[in-house]
Amino acid sequence: MSTLADLILGLAAETIAAIDLTAPLSESTPIIALPAGHGQPWPFSREMISHYDAAGPTAYWNNIRLSEHTGTHFDAPVHWVSGRDGLDVSQVPPGRLIGPAVVLDFSAESAADPDFLLSREHIQRWQDEHGPLPEGGWLLYRTGWDARGGDPAAFLNGGHTPGIEPDCAQWLAGKTSLLGVGVETVGTDAGQAATLAGQPFPCHWHLQGAGRFGLTQLRNLGRLPVRGAVVIASPLPIIGGSGSPARVIALIERSAGGVA
Ligand code: MN
Repeated sequence: MSTLADLILGLAAETIAAIDLTAPLSESTPIIALPAGHGQPWPFSREMISHYDAAGPTAYWNNIRLSEHTGTHFDAPVHWVSGRDGLDVSQVPPGRLIGPAVVLDFSAESAADPDFLLSREHIQRWQDEHGPLPEGGWLLYRTGWDARGGDPAAFLNGGHTPGIEPDCAQWLAGKTSLLGVGVETVGTDAGQAATLAGQPFPCHWHLQGAGRFGLTQLRNLGRLPVRGAVVIASPLPIIGGSGSPARVIALIERSAGGVA
């Protein structure tokens, strides 16, 4: 029996579950708001082309308008100036969109302090308990923020959202083989990342600078096991693009501890 045939049998028998980590995309999907004077990403909007009517009797379809970084999306290395010589989103090899994932749950800490920052010490303690970060995999950072996804004001929280310390982001980029970091918040960096001592926007700076990726606005991380999931990110291959809205799916084995 081949591995892929086993996978299909597992999906049919529901011993393997596909968990959607993607936030629904609509006109009310929260987007990041940059300081006045900066360019701003567009929220999602749509305009009907036809709906089985005079404009197209047999077809329903829409034109859509959004930024490369609207909703659940993928940050490519060229998104940040530190990665300007790196890959654009169309150049990322498809094999590097798929990898093993671990879930680091700091939702209690983030509930107590919305400006919570993950440190190297936090990750060391997590590894002492759960084992090493996966080679060539995703670090999924659970903060409980997905529960706020239906309320843009609560989701953006006045710019106070959890993130990662500069020293920790530098370590993740320089000392691990991670594909990248996935978060539940609007971006991989903390809401207050512009003001962090040391390196502002450290996740973007260090991870994109090291050719790594970001995934944002993930949901359902609480349904994944601490380790054992396989995550598939599927950004569009926009030529020259800095990123793309993405469907992100996790495969889990029901026996692996996930709640499917
Ligand atoms: Mn982004």
